Amino acid sequence: MNKLMISVSGVRGIFGDNLTPELALKYAAHFGIFSQRGKIIVGRDSRTTGPAMFHAVVAGLLSVGCDVVDLGIVSTPTVLLAVEDSDAAGGIAITASHNPAEWNAMKFAGENGMFLFPEAASDFVASLPEKIKFASWKNMGRLSKDDETTTRHIEKILQIPYLDIDKIKARKFKVVVDCVNGAGGMIAPALLRSLGCEVIQLNCQPTGIFAHTPEPLNKNLVGLEKAVAAHEADIGFATDPDVDRLAIVSEKGRCIGEEFSLLLAEKFILSRQKGDIVTNLSSSMASEDIAAEFGVKVHRTKVGEINVCKKMKEINSPVGGEGNGGVICPEVHYTRDAPAGMAVILGYLAEKNKSISQLVAAIPRYYFTKDKVTMETDKMETIIEKAEKAYGNFQLDTTDGLKILGDKYWIHIRKSGTEPIIRVYVESTSQEQSDGLCCKTIETLKKL
Ligand code: MG
Repeated sequence: MNKLMISVSGVRGIFGDNLTPELALKYAAHFGIFSQRGKIIVGRDSRTTGPAMFHAVVAGLLSVGCDVVDLGIVSTPTVLLAVEDSDAAGGIAITASHNPAEWNAMKFAGENGMFLFPEAASDFVASLPEKIKFASWKNMGRLSKDDETTTRHIEKILQIPYLDIDKIKARKFKVVVDCVNGAGGMIAPALLRSLGCEVIQLNCQPTGIFAHTPEPLNKNLVGLEKAVAAHEADIGFATDPDVDRLAIVSEKGRCIGEEFSLLLAEKFILSRQKGDIVTNLSSSMASEDIAAEFGVKVHRTKVGEINVCKKMKEINSPVGGEGNGGVICPEVHYTRDAPAGMAVILGYLAEKNKSISQLVAAIPRYYFTKDKVTMETDKMETIIEKAEKAYGNFQLDTTDGLKILGDKYWIHIRKSGTEPIIRVYVESTSQEQSDGLCCKTIETLKKL
């Protein structure tokens, strides 16, 4: 049996193995009580286990007296927007994000329409009682439906003030969109059509039968690459099943890499709204180059979307996100939002009248190597402390594990929150250098 993953990002597991309907009901009921038995908005992605999870979650919430609003199959950013735009006390997105089809999960949002902040999330998971205190028959919650939230989400994206919608429409972009049969099919084609695009849909049926490995990494997007080339499209977009990560395929039918979704968004948005960028410690240093171009700074946070969102809100940042294709546009809301990312990228294309390859070529290219070392969980902290001493001659950042900052390269060593591994991420100006530095770092860690 695999371990159930309970972390600040929610409760995640393999359905029927460690994540059961009973457990979903219990966590949902606990979340209802945690949210003062207020109204809770629930949406899910397209997974085949979604209906079973949904009914368990709703049973839990109603039984503690929460009114529940069912959004049906929607993107995770749509759930968050629906919470923010209502008087709800919170939201639950039933999705295991980019994990394979046998997984499912619950992600919890607060009344502000943002995922629970780390402190609140820790309090929530730590306070799960042995026995739930259900409400009496007189105090049961009521279930209602809202089928309009995707439409409202699209409207909000179309109202981003720096987007020239007419200019985008005039370009009549030909776009192939691959939603891996996740929830993206519910929003991405409709949004793209409202931007005047000719849309070629690939895997846009929300069946939960994922057409390929669902994480939108280059190696999983071969079908999209071929389709973009075959249709001579201007661009290809891919999303993960819950539509918060965005990957792009160029007009040449080649993946440009997930890092570039955020970098392109940064370049366009900063040309319209001045302010500092926020991203996590493991995302590309090309953000620093872009920031320098616009005379602003980059703030680096711990890995984890909520850390980036929190910082963005605090400093009123116009753009931020994560290098895994997570674009955050505060004009829509504080969460990674792939549809908003698509609109921004098309806005940039329309503005510059260039191809996506040309826009990418104007951004400095660095090279990543990612690897990991397996070790016992209780040893990980000590190893990182020892590494801090071993790399004492370097400029170090200890915000999240250990980041070693060199001249045009960095090495980030951090323990996984969910597995007994230490991750090593390296970025430099050449693939050879990154491979070499990563290999050397792993050897060093093994000797400590
Ligand atoms: Mg996701």
